[in-house]
Amino acid sequence: MDADWVARFADEVIAEAERRAPGKPIVCASGLSPSGPIHLGNLREVMTPHLVADEIRRRGHECVHILSWDDFDRFRKVPAGVDPSWSEHIGKPLTSVPAPPGSPHPNWAEHFKAPMAAALAEMGVEFRGISQTEMYTSGAYREQVLLAMRERRRIDAILGQYRTKAKAKVADDDEAAALEGSGAAGEDDGSGAGGYYPYKPYCSVCDRDLTTVTSYDDETTALAYTCACGHAETVTLAEHTRGKLVWKVDWPMRWAYEGVVFEPSGVDHTSPGSSFVVGGQIVRAIFGADQPIGPMYAFVGISGMAKMSSSKGGVPTPADALSIMEPALLRWLYARRRPNQSFKVSFDQEIQRMYDEWDTLSRKIADGSALPADQAAHRRAATTASATLGETPRRLPYRTLASVADITGGDQEQTLRILREFDHEIAGLDELRPRLDRAQHWVATYVPAEERTQVREEPDTALLTTLGTTERESLKLLADGLDEHWSLDGLTALVYGVPKIQAGLDLSAKAATPELKAAQRAFFALLYRLLVGRETGPRLPTLLLTVGRDRVRRLIAS
Ligand SMILES: [Zn+2]
Repeated sequence: MDADWVARFADEVIAEAERRAPGKPIVCASGLSPSGPIHLGNLREVMTPHLVADEIRRRGHECVHILSWDDFDRFRKVPAGVDPSWSEHIGKPLTSVPAPPGSPHPNWAEHFKAPMAAALAEMGVEFRGISQTEMYTSGAYREQVLLAMRERRRIDAILGQYRTKAKAKVADDDEAAALEGSGAAGEDDGSGAGGYYPYKPYCSVCDRDLTTVTSYDDETTALAYTCACGHAETVTLAEHTRGKLVWKVDWPMRWAYEGVVFEPSGVDHTSPGSSFVVGGQIVRAIFGADQPIGPMYAFVGISGMAKMSSSKGGVPTPADALSIMEPALLRWLYARRRPNQSFKVSFDQEIQRMYDEWDTLSRKIADGSALPADQAAHRRAATTASATLGETPRRLPYRTLASVADITGGDQEQTLRILREFDHEIAGLDELRPRLDRAQHWVATYVPAEERTQVREEPDTALLTTLGTTERESLKLLADGLDEHWSLDGLTALVYGVPKIQAGLDLSAKAATPELKAAQRAFFALLYRLLVGRETGPRLPTLLLTVGRDRVRRLIAS
């Protein structure tokens, strides 16, 4: 029935899971590195498997969405805004690095996981978080680590097929890793002067991974390493838990360990020699399991962040997106685009158009005229298998709420008075929440000062005295028509109609000659200049309603 991409992947995953492990819960997976603020761009890593897992659950299958927190990865670099002294922790596991000053969290990784987990909860994303620190340090992967070390020559040979090709890509990978936030790309693959070892210990003295394995005995599992700090030690790998497999072996090991059937990955992971491709060979050859179905997902861009001053170093997070849009809308952006389509999350004026589209779709859903794929996307956005996402009881257009927030500066009483002009049945502002809060926050935080509206306190007498007869007449026609047309639709008709009347037409005449359009543009510009001192502004009917009849009359009286 459902013609959308989510349904098609769910079909495929269910069939594949039946083949691989009949009767077992189906496993979909994501991985995130809490190495810093988790960028909004990384949300696709979670949303893609979430939507597929959710569809599988809707069909009555048991399905687990695991989210691997790559918190046992090394701390790579100190992000902007953090004390440079944190550089002493570079090379330690993220869970061994102190949280930034003032954080209530016990370590670096937890500090950055927490807001992501909270955002996912708000979005209705059900997942089982797996701390890789806990997995490795508890010895959960012991058998797999010993197996990988035993098979190191075969792993080395597989990686060797790609190494020359991969080298040319290193620069790209680093860049992608920085953006992509998964601790994956750019990590060393275990080769060193002393031979190939896929396991890397954290030094027992300095806790950093500046270690080199110098020998390994398959019989006794004695592993010798040296560290850049000067420490040298021989440990028994069968008991050692302070180390991890290199990424390109770690990832396929986890596919096998968890029985992952679906795990998408970013563009940089799917080129020849990338971890997904190499991992596919390693999981079959070494761990005796299958690679997950793993579509590549395209980049999600952000628009409108450059202009804002962010306290978090300009990195937009899912929490930032949720501060300006409701969870259902954010879910919808992901549900309606196939993973290989890129799109943007808008923090600029475009968000108003996105909301209009969402409202239009909601109306079509209500009257039964939406296309099947659009219906599916809407359902995936507004509900999950187990929950309905919170909705604003009374939905006014986001652009209206934003205009009112812009003009009133968020004043509650004024806001209520004006919004009642749009909808007389509004009992209180709570009916308009949370959408109202999101629109107010958007205006206050993301609309640059020069785009904000300042209604004039006093008439622009200098401008008013220079007006010609036609302009004065247009202002009088508007002022005289305000009472009769004091509604959104009425004012729309009036502002477009005044130039029609002046052209000898009827107010409601259907006319669109170039001359009339030019006259309308000139009239609108005049009104904006008189009301807000600029050539443009919020839609005029909204602006007029917001400013109020008396004040409008006072500002345009010539
Ligand atoms: Zn050391």
